[in-house]
Amino acid sequence: MIRFKNGLVMTLEGGCEAEKKEVWVEGDKVCFVGVPTDEQLKNAVFEKEYDLEGDLLMPSFKNAHTHSAMTFLRSYADDLPLQDWLFKQVFPMEAKLTGEDVYWFSRLAILEYLTSGVSASFDMYFELDDYVRANIESGFRTVLCGAVSGEGENAKVLEERYLKYNGIDPLISMRLGFHAEYTASRELLEGIAELAEKYKVPVSVHNSETAKEVRECIEKYGKTPTRLFDDLGIYKYGGAGFHCVHFAPEDMDIFRERGVFAVSCPGSNSKLASGIAPVTDMLARGVKVGLGTDGPASNNALDMFREMYLLTVLQKLRNNDAAALPADEVLKIACCASAETMGLADCGCIAVGKAADLIVIGLKKPSMQPVNNIAKNLVYSGSKENVRMTVIAGKVRYLDGEFFVGEDAARIYAKCSELTEALKKR
Ligand SMILES: [Zn+2]
Repeated sequence: MIRFKNGLVMTLEGGCEAEKKEVWVEGDKVCFVGVPTDEQLKNAVFEKEYDLEGDLLMPSFKNAHTHSAMTFLRSYADDLPLQDWLFKQVFPMEAKLTGEDVYWFSRLAILEYLTSGVSASFDMYFELDDYVRANIESGFRTVLCGAVSGEGENAKVLEERYLKYNGIDPLISMRLGFHAEYTASRELLEGIAELAEKYKVPVSVHNSETAKEVRECIEKYGKTPTRLFDDLGIYKYGGAGFHCVHFAPEDMDIFRERGVFAVSCPGSNSKLASGIAPVTDMLARGVKVGLGTDGPASNNALDMFREMYLLTVLQKLRNNDAAALPADEVLKIACCASAETMGLADCGCIAVGKAADLIVIGLKKPSMQPVNNIAKNLVYSGSKENVRMTVIAGKVRYLDGEFFVGEDAARIYAKCSELTEALKKR
C-alpha cells in the first residue's frame, strides 16, 4: 500500500474544497480517503509513504482531445492560416511518418503530459501499434479514438482496431472514432453508423471546428455536421465532438439528447483563429463539456493549466461577463468531465475503489500563495511549475522534475531531434 499523508486532499466528489486527509493506494486503486484512526494505522502495511508537507493531492487532469505524436511538428508550421497549415504543412509531413517516429514522438508528448499533471489522453492518430507501445512502456493511460479517414480506410479497418486494442492492456482502451466529416466519404460515415449500432457504443469525431467546415457540410448535405451525424445514427449512443466552435442551438440540443460531449480546445482554436466555442451556452443547454489541448502542432503546448485558463477567460470575454464559467467548474471539467468524455469515469474524482490517477500540487510556490482559494489559484495563477507528482494507476511516473517512464528523458529528446531532422529530408 502507498500512503499519502500530511497533505490537503481535494477529491472533487462534491465541490472543490480541500481538507486535511490521507489517501492510501492499493495496487492501481484508491483504498482509503479520510483521517485514519490509530487502529487503522496500526493494521496498515505501507510499502511507501509520501509526506506531502501540506501540499495538495487532487485528481489528475485528463486531456480529452489530442494527437500526441504530432510533437514533431511543434514550431514547424506556425503563424499560417488553418487551411495552409493543414493541407500544405501538416498532411505532407504526416504522410512520411513511420511507426518508429510515432513511437518516439509519442514518448515525448507523454513526458510533457506528466509535467502538466495529465494522466490520460484521448488520442486520435495512426501507427497505433507503435503509439500503444509508447504508452504501455511509459506507464501512461490512453484511449484511442480511431483515425480512419477517406483514403484507403474503411469501417472494417476501424472495427478490427476496435476489437484488437480494447483489452490489450489495462492502460489502453479504444472508442470508435474518425477524423472528420470533410475527410470522410458518405460510405465511411454509413459504415461507422453501422458499427455504432452493432456494438451500441459512442463515436467521437472532429466537429464544427471552423466556419468553412460547417458551411461546406451544409452545401454538400443540406445540414450541419452534427445533424448529419445524428441523422445517420453515428451519435445514437453518445460520443464526443472535438472543438464545436461553430455550433448552432440545434446542434447543442442534439448533443444534450444523445449525451454527446463537446470537447473544447481553446488554445488550438485561438492559435488557428477558428473562433471561440459557445461553451457557456452549451452548458446552459445541458450539454456536457470536456477539455483538450488538441495536438502539439496547433497548440503548441500540451498543458492543461493554460487550457483551463483560456477556457474560462475566453468565455468571460465572449459573454462580456467576468462571472462566466467560474474556476470550480473549469477544474471539474478538466479532471472529471474530461475523464467521462473518454469513458474513464473511474478516473475522475478521488474515492475508494476509483483508479489512483492523482497529482500533487506544490503550494509553497509564489504563484500559489496565499491560499485564499485553491481552485482559483489552480485555474488563474497555476502552472506546470506547481506539479510535483503525477501518479497513474497507482504508479508514480513523475516526481519533482524526475521521470519514471522506463526511459531516459535525455534519450527521448535526442531521438526526437534526430528523427525530426530525418523526416524533413525524406
Ligand atoms: Zn484534433
